[in-house]
Formats: sequence, C-alpha cells, structure tokens
Amino acid sequence: MTISRRHFLGFGSLLIASCGIPTHAIADDDDMPRVRPQPQCGPATADNIEGPFYKQGAPSRSVLAAKDDRGTRFALSGVVMSTACEPIAKAEVDVWHADATGGYDNDGYKFRGTMLTDDHGRYDLRTIIPGRYLNGSTYRPAHIHVKVRASKREELTTQLYFDGDPYNAKDPFIVESLIMKHKANKQGVRLARFDFVLA
Ligand code: FE
Repeated sequence: MTISRRHFLGFGSLLIASCGIPTHAIADDDDMPRVRPQPQCGPATADNIEGPFYKQGAPSRSVLAAKDDRGTRFALSGVVMSTACEPIAKAEVDVWHADATGGYDNDGYKFRGTMLTDDHGRYDLRTIIPGRYLNGSTYRPAHIHVKVRASKREELTTQLYFDGDPYNAKDPFIVESLIMKHKANKQGVRLARFDFVLA
C-alpha cells in the first residue's frame, strides 16, 4: 500500500508505525490495558506454524490463569481488523500455550481458550507468560499460539513472541513482526498489545 505524504501527515503519529507493521503499542500503566483502535493498514499478520499441541473445542474464556497458577501474569489486548483497517466484530481468537514449566495440557484445556472480539474488534486476554520447552536440543522461546477466525476471512494460524527472550535469536520459526513488546504495570503484570490483520 502506498500513502501520500499529505495522507501520512494527516494521520500524524498514529500512522508512524502502521501499514503492515503492528505497533505493539504498550497499554497504559494500569490493571486493564486500554485498547485504542489505531489505523494499521497493510498486509495480513504473518502466519506461523501450528505446532503439535492444538486442540479444538477450547472453552470460551479470556482469563486463562487461575490464582494459584505459577508464572508471570500477562495481559494482552488488541484489535482484529481487515487489511483495510476495518475492525472485525465477533472474530474468534483461539489461544493455546504452555504452562510456566513449558508443558501443554493435552488432556484438558488448561491455558486454552477462545474469545470473540467486541463490536470494535477488540479482544482481551489474561494469562501468564508461557514457559519454554525443548525443541530438539534447544529451547523454543516463550510463545503463545493463536488462531484467528472471522467470517469471509482467511483463518490465521500464528504465534506471538516476547521481546527480550534470549531464545528468540536462534528460534527457527520466529518472525520479527510477531514479537510483542511488553512492560510491567505497578502490580507486576506484563502488558502488551497485538493487533491481528486478517486477509
Ligand atoms: Fe508451542
């Protein structure tokens, strides 16, 4: 997509990191990261391998961590939108990830959940930062698996990664645009934003 200089200046800073490059803007420093839909026109979010641990039928929920679960609390929010910047309501965000020790629940649905975006295309996920697990002789960096589905759109299967993970550099699957910046709020919850763009 091309943007004229006038168009670009017209949107000001909101567009600086847009057009294909998710901003990963960090939400405000409070318990509930606010989601502000921002123009992010551009190509669809990069896909990434599904891996062997996907299970259909995850319960409908956006809070995946219970009080007594180990792990650093993590709050992820964002918008699902089209490549034309249109927020997509009722898109399904299907998430699965490892527990704090790097294990997947393949018998039940721990750290698995699906949620629907609201009328503004927004989703909110509350969970932990997953642990790492061995892939052959090296650890995969922490990551969250996601499928995003919406009517008349291509289903997206991807993974989100954490900026600063020392295993990012050598991971054979990681894609730069899928790395989330994150920061802690006063309660120590790591906050991040990631917007999904569906083709
Ligand atoms: Fe995995």
